[in-house]
Amino acid sequence: MDSPAGGFSAAGYGAGSPRCGSGDQRATGVVPVSAHTVILRAEWTLEPDLEPDALPIRYAMACAVCADGEEPAKDPADTRSAWSEDPFEPQSWVFEHVRRNPMHQSFTEVIERPWRAWMRKRS
Ligand SMILES: [Zn+2]
Repeated sequence: MDSPAGGFSAAGYGAGSPRCGSGDQRATGVVPVSAHTVILRAEWTLEPDLEPDALPIRYAMACAVCADGEEPAKDPADTRSAWSEDPFEPQSWVFEHVRRNPMHQSFTEVIERPWRAWMRKRS
């Protein structure tokens, strides 16, 4: 079985697997083997996904004091806000968290941004 035109292998990029030829193994005890390697050079581009069907950018706030583990929160499940597409919404969680844990005064904003990779060219 040969690769599709251009040497592209559906199994991935780089070196392909050696393939065994067909033969009557039981009759001769000898397995004809041929090595076949596919090498593909490709140039990839990585960029923020701004397509209309891209996942939304989401925001959350996380407590840095809870993250370092030295002074756990009263509720161990309460270390990060829920995700929101509104960057200001997680900030209200911060005020609730600091109210429940007055010594927790350091926070991290977590941003989840979709990216996409696409092949610019291959040879
Ligand atoms: Zn905390």
